[in-house]
Amino acid sequence: MKECIFCQIGKHKIPAKIRYEDKEIIAFDDINPKAKIHILVVPKKHVASLNESDIELIKKLFAAIKTIVKKTNIADSGFKIVINTGKDGGQIIPHLHLHILGEEKVKHTP
Ligand code: 5GP
Ligand code: ZN
Repeated sequence: MKECIFCQIGKHKIPAKIRYEDKEIIAFDDINPKAKIHILVVPKKHVASLNESDIELIKKLFAAIKTIVKKTNIADSGFKIVINTGKDGGQIIPHLHLHILGEEKVKHTP
């Protein structure tokens, strides 16, 4: 079976602007950014969505996010984490990923 696009990026088979990488996680710029800083944080192992994830993996993804926001200098100015899940949640790529959105172009009201 053909690997999904994020599995291929995780194995460096498809190029991406990589912001962070360790044994289990890769983070790279979104190809179609919705904010000035838009980074996707992705487990290298194929996990279809948040529903299929385990808590240990989620912990590691959030630990990576804390490192990435410091490295990209948005920890203090602020950022948003989005996890689109499933059809009604707007998930297009069926491989778990967390969006980091910083320096937003459009300010949202709650
Ligand atoms: P979703 O709606 O599934 O949460 O978001 C998927 C995100 O992946 C979108 O923001 C889209 O722009 C991004 N994306 C889709 N294909 C690629 C790709 O090949 N490379 C990168 N870097 N981002 C992608
Ligand atoms: Zn995958």
